[in-house]
Amino acid sequence: MIKVKNISGIRKIAFIQWVKLRVFIYFLPELLKGNMSFKRFIKFVKRLLYFLSKVKDNKFVKIGENTRMDLYIPGFPSQAFFTSCKKVREFEDKLPCTVALISVTSACKFNCKYCYQKNDRGKDVDINRLIEVVKKLQNMGVAFFNIEGGDPFLTYERLKKVCQSIDERSETWVNSTGYGITLERLKELKKFNVNAIMFSMHTPDSEELNSFMGNENAWQTMAKAIELCHKADMSVAFNCCISKEGFYNGDFEKIMEKAKDFGASIIQVIKPKPSGGALKEGVDKFSKEDIIHVKNLVNKYNLDKKYKAYPSISAQVIEEDKSQFGCTAGGTDRIYINAKGDVQPCEFLNMSFGNIEEESFEETYKKMRECFLEPGECWLCEKYSKEILRLYEKYNLKSLPLPPEISKEIYNNWDRGEQTYFYKKLKE
Ligand code: SF4
Repeated sequence: MIKVKNISGIRKIAFIQWVKLRVFIYFLPELLKGNMSFKRFIKFVKRLLYFLSKVKDNKFVKIGENTRMDLYIPGFPSQAFFTSCKKVREFEDKLPCTVALISVTSACKFNCKYCYQKNDRGKDVDINRLIEVVKKLQNMGVAFFNIEGGDPFLTYERLKKVCQSIDERSETWVNSTGYGITLERLKELKKFNVNAIMFSMHTPDSEELNSFMGNENAWQTMAKAIELCHKADMSVAFNCCISKEGFYNGDFEKIMEKAKDFGASIIQVIKPKPSGGALKEGVDKFSKEDIIHVKNLVNKYNLDKKYKAYPSISAQVIEEDKSQFGCTAGGTDRIYINAKGDVQPCEFLNMSFGNIEEESFEETYKKMRECFLEPGECWLCEKYSKEILRLYEKYNLKSLPLPPEISKEIYNNWDRGEQTYFYKKLKE
């Protein structure tokens, strides 16, 4: 079983100093070789320090040899970690996007009610084209790839090819229900720099999870696959989309308990989003007080000594708060390519800027990033879900995301709120 250890107290303080020193040493040759002027180098270091200050309250976790400061920052001191540092080395254009979520197939044996791809109907994109695009994204600065499905292990050869195409400049995690996972496959993926398998645990109750995922063996499948991950020295993580009630009735605490027992390293807590299967029905509304309640719960587990042994939590309500990174969609720090090859700003935003089989990826990507030139504070997935649904129904569409021409009707006039302070400050 891979060793997972949380870093806290004095060790965390010392670790942060070590990261600063190591990063300085790593990039110093850029100054010495004249690749960066002295002024730029100082600005670059300042930006890095500012970025570090934003993640310092996370629970750091050492997974094997590398230490993770945030779900989306590859483990330190991997090569992928330094790729992510290069994000703030850009001074002329929009900063590169460092995180990409890629779906390799829509095939799935499960039937989650609120799947964000619920209405994405169509053939899986040509795998060679997808690989080309993944390589381009890596060259453009993506440091962290999250590969998903449907269930990617159902089309293992596709999954393997994509993972194989990503070199050490980036880190790769795979999302799965556990179906189709074998020890041999895990061992093989480890050779291609896959560092973790992320499972979904939206409730701590096995029967409830089975019902949520529309499969009577969902929990058992996940538990067996987790055992195999431990045998293969593969790190285990969870994503949890918890209902509002779950943050008040003890479910959140029970999920944390289960995750600890399962030997997880990181838990991603996702606020339910009105997209895909939930686009029409909508999701629980979280009031300001509810959000504060969730943040307090997360901070308690991440910062209080009493909860030291629990996995680190990465919570969207904290990371995407306007005081942190805001909405990172659109190639700011998130891009999603669905199984059909549609380029979306975020998996929870059912709109598209083009398809990788039909248009040049560079042009689609450029068009999308121009539209998101200044990162904004507004959570677009929530603000524009009703408008997406309206257009879906107006044009009698049979599949999501909205095609590029129709998506324009949204983004031509949208209001993405104030520019996110973090990115504004970085530019200064
Ligand atoms: S649209 Fe923006 S706020 Fe919503 S999940 Fe995506 S990145 Fe986060």
